[in-house]
Amino acid sequence: MRPFRLSIIKLFPVILLLISCNGNHADLYNKITKVDAHVHIRTEDPAIMELAVDEGFKFLTINTRSNSQEYIDNQMHFAKAVKENYPDRISYITTFSMENSEDPSWSEEVIRRLQKDFEEGAVGLKVWKDIGMTFRDSLDNFIFIDDPLFDPIFDFVASQKKTVIAHIGEPKNCWLPVESMTVNNDKKYFKEHPQYHMYLHPDYPSYEKLVESRDNLLAKHPDMRLVGAHLGSLEWDVDELAERLDRFPNFAVDMAARVCHFQVQDREKVREFIIKYQDRLLYATDLVISEDNFEKQIAWIEKEWRADWRYFSTDEPMDSPNVDGSFTGLGLDEDILRKIYHANAVKWYPGIFE
Ligand SMILES: [Zn+2]
Repeated sequence: MRPFRLSIIKLFPVILLLISCNGNHADLYNKITKVDAHVHIRTEDPAIMELAVDEGFKFLTINTRSNSQEYIDNQMHFAKAVKENYPDRISYITTFSMENSEDPSWSEEVIRRLQKDFEEGAVGLKVWKDIGMTFRDSLDNFIFIDDPLFDPIFDFVASQKKTVIAHIGEPKNCWLPVESMTVNNDKKYFKEHPQYHMYLHPDYPSYEKLVESRDNLLAKHPDMRLVGAHLGSLEWDVDELAERLDRFPNFAVDMAARVCHFQVQDREKVREFIIKYQDRLLYATDLVISEDNFEKQIAWIEKEWRADWRYFSTDEPMDSPNVDGSFTGLGLDEDILRKIYHANAVKWYPGIFE
C-alpha cells in the first residue's frame, strides 16, 4: 500500500497541472465568441445555427460564383432567410454575375445591384476564381481580376467602405504533379477531378499570373480593404504571404480550408508568422452546407472547429488525415486567439454583426 500511496501523492501536482492546462484551453473555447469568417450556408435548417450557438460561433456566409444571377439569387435567399432568424449570429457577402460583361452598361448594372445589396446588409463583395480561370472575352482571351472592366466596381465598393473577399487562383499544388503535392486533401481532390488539375492544362493561366493579377488589384485600389480567401492562394509559404502583407497594408487573409498548409510548414516559422501578422489573419473553415450534405457536414464541422482550436491553442502533438506524420500545436496566447477568432473579422468586415 505504501508505495502506491506515495506515487499518487507524488503525481498529484502533475495530474492537477494537466487538468488545469486542458481546462484552460477548453474554457477559453467555451468562453469566447468565435467567428468562422468563410462559410457557405445554403439551407434554412436551423440545426446548423443551433450548433453554432452551442459551440459559440458566428458565421460570415459568402455568395459566390459569377456565372449566373439566378444562382446568386438562390444563395442570397438562404443568406437572408437565416439572417432573419439569427440576426446577431450571421452576416453575408454578395457577389455579381459576369453575364453580359461585354455590354457597355454592365458595370453600371452591377453597381446598381451592389448598392441595393449593401443597403440591405451585405458587408462585402466576393470575387471568385472563375475570374482568371473560366471567363474569356469575345477574342477568347481570359479575363483577369485586374482588368479595367472591374475598376468602376471596385471604386464603388471602396467608396461604400465595404470589403472585397477575393478567391483568385488555386493552391499552388494545383499546378504540380499529384505526387509533389504537399497535403493529402489536394492529392485526393485533383486525382478525382483532373479537369481542374492545372498541371494537366498548360494552356490555362499559370499560378504566378493569377497571383500577380490579384496583387495588381491590391496595388490599383489601395483604399479598398481586401481579404484574400484561402490564405490568399499563398498557402504554401508563409514568407511569400508575409511579403504581400508587408507590401499591401489593405490586405488580410482568411484561413478557409488551408489550416493544413500551416501544419506542413516549419512550426516555429508559422508560429512567428502568426504572431507578427496577428491583426491580418481571420479564422475560417469553408464549410459548405445544403440539404444534400447536411448530416455529413454537421458532423464534420464540429470536429473541425475543435481540432483547429486545439492546433492554435495548445502545444500538443496532433495528427490529421490531410497531413502525413504528426505535427505540434502552435500554443498561441489568448490575446492572439481572440484576434484571429473574432476581432480581426470585426475589423476587416466593418458592420459584420451590427
Ligand atoms: Zn468558399
